[in-house]
Amino acid sequence: MAAGPDGRILAVGDGARAAAGRNAVVHDLSGAVWPGLHDAHIHLEHLALRRLGLELQGISNRARVLERVRAGAARLPARAWLIGQGWNNDEWLDDASWPRPEELDAVAGGRPIFLVRKDGHSAWLSTPAYALAGIDPSVPIKETLVGEVGKLLPEPTDVEFDRALSSELRALARKGLTSVHAMDTPRAFRSFQRLHARRALPLRVTWNLPAADLAAAERIGIRSGWGDHQLRIWGVKAFLDGSLGSRTAEMLDGSGVAVLPQPELVELVRRCVGAGLNVCLHAIGDGAVRRALDALEPVAGSWARWRPRIEHAQCVDPTDAPRFRRVGAVASMQPLHAVSDRELADREWAGRTASAYAWRRLAAAGAVLAFGSDAPVEDADPLLGLAAATTWRRRAGWHPDLALSQAAALRAYTVGAAYAAGMEGSVGRLRPGYLCDLSVIDGGRVVATVVGGRFTWRRA
Ligand SMILES: [Zn+2]
Repeated sequence: MAAGPDGRILAVGDGARAAAGRNAVVHDLSGAVWPGLHDAHIHLEHLALRRLGLELQGISNRARVLERVRAGAARLPARAWLIGQGWNNDEWLDDASWPRPEELDAVAGGRPIFLVRKDGHSAWLSTPAYALAGIDPSVPIKETLVGEVGKLLPEPTDVEFDRALSSELRALARKGLTSVHAMDTPRAFRSFQRLHARRALPLRVTWNLPAADLAAAERIGIRSGWGDHQLRIWGVKAFLDGSLGSRTAEMLDGSGVAVLPQPELVELVRRCVGAGLNVCLHAIGDGAVRRALDALEPVAGSWARWRPRIEHAQCVDPTDAPRFRRVGAVASMQPLHAVSDRELADREWAGRTASAYAWRRLAAAGAVLAFGSDAPVEDADPLLGLAAATTWRRRAGWHPDLALSQAAALRAYTVGAAYAAGMEGSVGRLRPGYLCDLSVIDGGRVVATVVGGRFTWRRA
């Protein structure tokens, strides 16, 4: 492979050395050279904030979580907020019941505490935090309330935030990622711009703005694709339902929560089509997925790069699978969710798990798949995601017929994800004229990452 000074591929294969010319710099790389891997659904803002807050992910014991909270609180000034994230009561082996405010009060005294659940759809508050929010402590903090209470939290400075975000991006480059589709608020977008101005973005970032900011985007007249190959704007992210873990996924049987009712969803899609903006519709339950497809059906083929996306699509009724292709909806899915959710899905979606995380069925029905991680909900490592999408189901004995081939899974992490952001003409394949983005894999691990012909990571 040879890349030119513009960061594009000159030639692939035997002719590469000749195409590069006599002055070429030659790098010897052992291993398989893949088109650069994408993460089509990631929360960089949460990842950055996580670096600034108390990390509770992966602790499988309630008492140890509380011990960590006690230690974290002890390091802070007396009245300061303790902010953290990552707890998951379903993983607590000693006591998996829903956590209570008094437990936090007992270990951290009169301090306000705000701890977001691993899935981001619930928060665990101390009694002083409830008091500051003006909410009765008996009310569980779920869905929109999480954001409401979140507004009370002290903000990190721009410098702190940029530093944390920058560390995260470099960590993602080490995992072999060359492009990410960020589902973040404008705070992250402002930080992306500052980093981009300093040429400090080691990956290509496609930003999808929250539906709450659609009016601002309409007013300015920003359209999908605005920006450059390193940083651009694409879609509008809207939540149709909640999550499996928080028991708020909207199901066809009537269970769960319709966060965005259908008339409002239809209106949102109409406005986005009118504004030239794509949509990223978060839909986890089969009920929410059906509503997304219903809303997208009348606007199918609105323009050449109309790439409406259904984010997660964790449970899809079999009759709805062929509709993805018909309405042109991309299935933006995260294979590691299946690994984490398997037991929960067996319990909550009993009898429906043959339709859950149904990558193979959706692909067979002609849907474009775009894979990502939903980090920090799951690990952002795309090699773990690839294993989950391909070999894991057979090993786990969980609907192995829904597993993908390695080639199909790799397409979802490369050309499929590129298509989901309208970039399939410039990234996602190794072809002359394409941007030279590579993930080099050797011995089951990433040994080098290249973006625009430059190394963003190379194993020593
Ligand atoms: Zn997400």
